[in-house]
Amino acid sequence: MRYHDITKDDMKNGDGLRVVLWLSGCRHHCPGCQNPVTWDPGDGILFDEAAKEEIEEQLEKSYISGITFSGGDPLFPENVPEVTVYIKELKCRFPEKTIWLYTGEVWEDIRELEVLRYIDVLIDGRFEQEKRDNLLHWCGSGNQRVINVGESLRRREIVIFNS
Ligand code: SF4
Repeated sequence: MRYHDITKDDMKNGDGLRVVLWLSGCRHHCPGCQNPVTWDPGDGILFDEAAKEEIEEQLEKSYISGITFSGGDPLFPENVPEVTVYIKELKCRFPEKTIWLYTGEVWEDIRELEVLRYIDVLIDGRFEQEKRDNLLHWCGSGNQRVINVGESLRRREIVIFNS
């Protein structure tokens, strides 16, 4: 698995101040995507122990609310096995921190994935230019949903996240 960037003290990609991991690989190719440079899974930097240390150093800070996985698509098929193991590890090590994940997939197609058990909030769906709305909180187009994952799994229906 490869990545393009790790950004710190981010306020735009989830609740609170966060560290954001921008992974390589996306099969959706949405017109108007702001990050087409991340589409190629072979591009970017190898996600190695040094990258993990950089992230964990951030999560150890009390004022950091958690981590957001973005890209690219963290649920690009080739990313899923490694993302699942890493998110599970983070949830065990930092149970008080929240984990958010952006994907171009829709909830209905991925709700059985193991990785969802360790995620707090999922923003789903492709970016649709004709539904673009700059007033939306945490997403770019009206078709995307900010999903409370734990409640949605428990109730077996989509529950929208309320901050
Ligand atoms: S899913 Fe996200 S990263 Fe992938 S093409 Fe669409 S907007 Fe870009």
